[in-house]
Amino acid sequence: MSYDKIEVPDSGQKIEVEDEENDEISVPDEPIIPIIHGDGIGTDVGPAAQRVLNAAAQATGREISWMRAYAGESARERYGEDVNLPDETVEAVREHRVAIKGPLTTPVGAGFRSLNVALRQTLDLFANVRPTYYLDGVPSPMKAPGEMNMVTFRENTEDVYAGIEWEHDTDEVEQVREFVEDEMGFDETMHDGPIGIGLKPISEKGSKRLVRRAIDYALEHDREKVTLVHKGNIMKFTEGQFGTWGMEVANEEYPDDEVFAAPDSLWEEQDEVDIPEDAVVIEERLADAMLQWMQLRTDEFDVLAMPNLNGDYLSDAAGAQIGGLGIAPGGNFGKARMLAEPVHGSAPKRAGQNMANPTALILSGRLMFDYLDWDEAADLLRDAVEETISAGKVTYDLERQLDDAEKLGTREYADEIIGNIEKLS
Ligand code: NAD
Repeated sequence: MSYDKIEVPDSGQKIEVEDEENDEISVPDEPIIPIIHGDGIGTDVGPAAQRVLNAAAQATGREISWMRAYAGESARERYGEDVNLPDETVEAVREHRVAIKGPLTTPVGAGFRSLNVALRQTLDLFANVRPTYYLDGVPSPMKAPGEMNMVTFRENTEDVYAGIEWEHDTDEVEQVREFVEDEMGFDETMHDGPIGIGLKPISEKGSKRLVRRAIDYALEHDREKVTLVHKGNIMKFTEGQFGTWGMEVANEEYPDDEVFAAPDSLWEEQDEVDIPEDAVVIEERLADAMLQWMQLRTDEFDVLAMPNLNGDYLSDAAGAQIGGLGIAPGGNFGKARMLAEPVHGSAPKRAGQNMANPTALILSGRLMFDYLDWDEAADLLRDAVEETISAGKVTYDLERQLDDAEKLGTREYADEIIGNIEKLS
């Protein structure tokens, strides 16, 4: 494919698919990786993270051939005022299989739809994965933040985020109201007067592939438990069915001695349930209770699999326990493809001031290295970031919560991490 505004690097090779169904790729030592720096603080953290990722790759005998691609503000500047997500950006990410992006701004209430959601849907990146682990030295509101070592799998393509909704006072919303009230019989459920209506689709396909991905991850990474988190007591045919389909995957697709679908009673009667030794346990929890248990019994959770909205809330809350948005990494996964991105947004107030914390984007790069099977580079990144933070060298967001820390700008903090990469390798 030829690109117009995107510069294709002179060297490097493409990541190829080995087995799409089983999520296998083949990675050259100098892969071409598209990068979108992003809006707002993306202009600070994007270039900083890129330098740190280069250093970790080079220290372990690899090289990344970056391909700068544009979305949001940077796309409007190059392609025209109406172009937020150029086709060639989507194509670059699609063609090269693995990419990384900073945050993109989404206007609230009006304007264009979320570019993040558009990218996830267009490329069918169905699982949003957020590893939530504690780094020494990071300020946390918890008494024992080190107990958190969880990975959340959030369904990424459906639920109320599918974007099927109708605005108040439109013909469309009145048609939907009429259908729901007159034809489906919910005639006393909705209030009279202006109303907005949205749909919450949760499918067997979307639920099962997400839970399957979470279980496979747990098996591959020696995790003990996968918790399916939903509000099935209230939303029985969507959230509840997510749990039922998830349990079907556990029961029907894996041998019992590898994956054990726990009965509801497991929570209270652990001792009375006969769990095969070494099997990954699959259990269900209600989302509201889960927000409480995650804080009170942090060390009991391991891998979580959730529909989209629960996943959004719970993964942010989990991130807060280990230091918040400046730290929390993430990635979106499809079949033999991945797009790494931090949890945080574009924080416009801090943009362009060399202030923002690039850790979340750097650790999203770590998740990308994991996916490339660059284990040594991934570990080096984590160790170098931890070394930097535990030496009290941090950006403003952490500095203001710590005694005796040294406040560094985004660039200077990245320099420190690069220094530690060189020291540790
Ligand atoms: P935000 O994450 O951008 O910022 C919330 C606050 O967190 C900021 O004011 C800042 O104090 C702090 N913060 C966030 N990231 C930080 C970092 N790296 N270093 C230091 N401090 C940091 O959330 P918001 O204000 O709700 O959203 C702003 C914009 O970002 C919106 O347009 C929203 O739609 C978008 N957004 C994009 C993504 C994405 O691209 N994946 C995710 C969330 C929000």
